[in-house]
Amino acid sequence: MGAGEFDLIARIAARSRGRADVLLGIGDDAALLATPPAGEALCVCVDTLNVGVHFPDGTAPFDIGWKALAVNLSDLAAMGATPRWATLALSLPSSDPAFLDPLIDGLLSLAEQHSVALVGGDTTRGPLSLSVQAIGSVAPTRALRRDGARVGDAIYLSGSTGDAAAGLAIVQQRIECSDPQVARALRTRLDRPTPRVELGQALAGTAHACIDISDGLLADLGHVLKASAVGAVLDLDALPVSPALQALLPEPRQRWPLQLAGGDDYELLVCGEAAEIEALPAFARGELTWIGRIDSMQGLRFERGGAPFEYRPERSGYDHFI
Ligand code: ADP
Ligand code: MG
Repeated sequence: MGAGEFDLIARIAARSRGRADVLLGIGDDAALLATPPAGEALCVCVDTLNVGVHFPDGTAPFDIGWKALAVNLSDLAAMGATPRWATLALSLPSSDPAFLDPLIDGLLSLAEQHSVALVGGDTTRGPLSLSVQAIGSVAPTRALRRDGARVGDAIYLSGSTGDAAAGLAIVQQRIECSDPQVARALRTRLDRPTPRVELGQALAGTAHACIDISDGLLADLGHVLKASAVGAVLDLDALPVSPALQALLPEPRQRWPLQLAGGDDYELLVCGEAAEIEALPAFARGELTWIGRIDSMQGLRFERGGAPFEYRPERSGYDHFI
């Protein structure tokens, strides 16, 4: 049974929680938010998820809601910001609460993990699409930008890459997977990415540059290299791999395209001074893996186990318009 626009908004408002810095949340023409503490700047981003483009048709509504917020929290994490608020512009083909409720539950369960308040939005009829705007704060001197990588920096990666792309390839029947447990683990990485929010905050003020990997490791590293006017060397033997991806593709060469150019990972790529990064508790906890170094030669080169290695990747990442 369908509900009206205002019933839908009421269902969303009933599920959302406030924060001390939300002076006026959902329900008026706009929200009123307290300015962040002195010395901090607002950090604002927006990302849209369209059905069939950003998630496969048939994805569980809970996962769609989760991912819509996760990709935005990942952008705040990559800036080293503390998330505070989010807004949601939602386009729905029908007003079925059986779809809307779990979608909002998915978004709000992740919001709650990071104490983010949903403070407003817009609800319209149309093809399924979610635009989430996330707003956080960070001291501008501590923010993790793309343009700060320096010659001599080490390059680190959080978690591992390639799983989400493998999960998508299995859904689209481009890769065969005979082990349902492995397939499920990879699909979960596609549907429920983990934004590295605490790690980003821990790196703020210490790392020299950071970007979240949404379009593929090489493509996103390329953004850092361009913005910082430096080059890099990546060690292919150092690329971290999850047990599930290792089980699916035991041969390293088979994995490289997914690890280097697969999209939807939402891991952090971090450049900084090795001694400073490796002194962080997050490094001791194994949250970052060394994968290479920044150097002064333009472009990107590869090594295996420290020895130069000739490798020509077919592609570097995902581009919506190519
Ligand atoms: P207006 O017509 O003034 O733009 P709306 O009727 O669109 O107001 O929205 C009413 C209230 O509900 C506003 O506070 C708006 O921010 C909130 N709202 C609408 N849609 C959503 C949504 N999908 N998620 C969160 N808040 C929403
Ligand atoms: Mg409106």
